[in-house]
Amino acid sequence: MSKLLLGQIVAFGAGPEEITHFARGALAFDDKGKIAWRGDAAHIPAAFTQAPRDDHGSSLLLAGFIDAHIHFPQYRMLAAAATDLLDWLSRYTFPEEARYSDTIYATHAAEIFLSRLHANGTTSALAFCSSHKTCAEALFAAAQKRNMALITGKTLMDRNAIPAVQDEVEQGALDTLDLHARFHGKARLRHAVTPRFAITSTEAQLRMAGEVLQLCSGALMQTHLSESAGEIAWIKQLFPNDQDYTAVYERFGLVTDRSLFAHGIHLSDREISALREAGATVVHCPTSNNFLGSGLMKIRRPIAHGLGTDVGGGTSYSMLQTLGETYKVQMLNGTKMKAAELFYLATRGNAERLKIDADTGCLDVGKFADVVVLDPEATPVLAARHALSRSVEDILFALALLGDDRAVKATYVTGQKVHGN
Ligand SMILES: [Zn+2]
Repeated sequence: MSKLLLGQIVAFGAGPEEITHFARGALAFDDKGKIAWRGDAAHIPAAFTQAPRDDHGSSLLLAGFIDAHIHFPQYRMLAAAATDLLDWLSRYTFPEEARYSDTIYATHAAEIFLSRLHANGTTSALAFCSSHKTCAEALFAAAQKRNMALITGKTLMDRNAIPAVQDEVEQGALDTLDLHARFHGKARLRHAVTPRFAITSTEAQLRMAGEVLQLCSGALMQTHLSESAGEIAWIKQLFPNDQDYTAVYERFGLVTDRSLFAHGIHLSDREISALREAGATVVHCPTSNNFLGSGLMKIRRPIAHGLGTDVGGGTSYSMLQTLGETYKVQMLNGTKMKAAELFYLATRGNAERLKIDADTGCLDVGKFADVVVLDPEATPVLAARHALSRSVEDILFALALLGDDRAVKATYVTGQKVHGN
């Protein structure tokens, strides 16, 4: 059955400057949950005027947020205080991820994790799992039930961690190929080959990951790159013959136009050129970088960037808070970003980087109706600030800097309400 959503529409076109705005707009969904019509609420076509409707008044209807980097098995370990990335991994992260060998634990956690994404207006994500196949199976199954465009894979890691989270080369390959065969392209699910990072993979495993990536047609590749000084120093010890960190991944065929590298803070000019030439993406995760003291990533580089929360290194599930922190980090770098660019990166931009833009990421007719409803007056502070807003840019800017999950009034995936009253 078709359905109508009413509210203030803010829809991006091919770039952040191209905004379609209806102060009182309507979105009509068809029975498959795809957007069938978009326009002024005064001109709803006769075919939809009798459809059931959710009227969100003057709240904003935007494309749902896409989180380009998040760790499912870290869903409950935000704000674990550590001295740096490597201390944080060994002290908190690996022991928590070890629990995900248990199917019951992972299945229960997947429901909580996805509900938390929806409560924050996030409708799609590229997520890491633990090294256990059960973890990826649980997340794929939960996301399919919710009809989400979700991308994940089992993490490959066969050294420099506690045994309970390590795998080994051959079994890791078999598990990865099996997950690809069973879940990639099933409904809206996609698969990503997922070596954690070069510190926790032997050369044999990185070689295998490159070979398996070739076999997994259409799969993404996700890993971490150049996050902290301690990590980079360790890479130099482990891979003394490679000229830099990126070169390690290049050597094993992991730098491609389907590759997403979280962080990429301390990249040299050579690394930036290599990533750009391959068409790879660096995913900026500011709340995590600030929390772990990893550094200030410069977004004005000739390279494609996505945005992610990096929960649980990140301190918030909220892409709104991630936009606010992105703005502040870039201000410290001497770059002032517009709110429209921030929102574009978190929606249409991330959809393009994750190769799901044919399916989601904007409010164009024909896309799945993945929608977040944002109340610009959700809190007293927002309401007072909203009274001063004079433009769409003003409204978006206040939401990016002052908003969080309280501003998310409702979330829709494939036209179905998954959060909100
Ligand atoms: Zn991460």
